[in-house]
Amino acid sequence: MWRSILAAQDLLKRGYYWSIASGTKVQVWGDSWLPDNSNRLIITPPIAGFDEIKVDELITEGLWREDFIRDKFMARDADLILYIPLPMSSREDQISWSFDARGEYTARSGYGALRCFRQSAALVASDVDSNFVWAQLWKVTTPPKILNFAWRAARNCLPTRFALTIRHVDTPMCCPICRSEPETTLHALVECVATRDVWDESGLAMLQGNFGSFVDWLATMFAYCDSVVFAKYLAVCWGLWWRRNDIVWNGRIRHSQQVVNGCFTMLESWFHANETLATAVTVPSYSSKWQKPDYGWIKINVDGAVFPDKGAIGAVFRDH
Ligand SMILES: [Zn+2]
Repeated sequence: MWRSILAAQDLLKRGYYWSIASGTKVQVWGDSWLPDNSNRLIITPPIAGFDEIKVDELITEGLWREDFIRDKFMARDADLILYIPLPMSSREDQISWSFDARGEYTARSGYGALRCFRQSAALVASDVDSNFVWAQLWKVTTPPKILNFAWRAARNCLPTRFALTIRHVDTPMCCPICRSEPETTLHALVECVATRDVWDESGLAMLQGNFGSFVDWLATMFAYCDSVVFAKYLAVCWGLWWRRNDIVWNGRIRHSQQVVNGCFTMLESWFHANETLATAVTVPSYSSKWQKPDYGWIKINVDGAVFPDKGAIGAVFRDH
């Protein structure tokens, strides 16, 4: 009980931040108010005599006291403070919740934030999981671009809003499509309501469960289906990421049918091309007995071997 209350308190501290206007309500040290999603607190050690001041003491006549700020704060803090635009008219400081597009706290966004923090902690300690998934992924017969995508997704390397935020990019953390939860990889590819139509269209069953991360989901799905079906799940994830980017960058929403047809057609053509290739490169049968060349020809037989520290090659030239 106490542990969950403390966890909730910590969550609130990490999720809330002040939008500065007059600066009269906000404590310089201790309150979250800098425009840095990964750490909104001042990192300059408190200065004796100034440690209780409010932000309004850094403002004079509607402007930041730049010389004073540069003199008293570390460069990172000073740059962030001076980056904050001050309003033209006088108004109150406002508190906002960073996990919701409108800045309002809701139970849903609170829960999403809590899961986010858990996922970020899990990601740090998920090398075993990702090694396991890596080993499993290589068993799946699928186009290299999908394999590469799945690996990047499993390692949290896709530039989701959440991943960008923990890499100190100043961007809203919430999903750019549903705007109701932080956009993690798991959210973007599996849990976002905006993915439902595509998963329904694919005909692939979606397991209900409380997955901790995308790696968790991948590992569960891999245990649940064979590698041919698993390749389809990966292809749909790839298609969903492609659709998400098209919405974010081009404002274009692809119909679910178009997304699923695109993924499955690509998958089938790749399988077909590989089958054709496999047939084309089958080694023709040949006689194992050496035969001398015809008159006027030279036959060259070669062999080679490579060792960790050296290599060797040999050749024999024979005429008729
Ligand atoms: Zn969403």
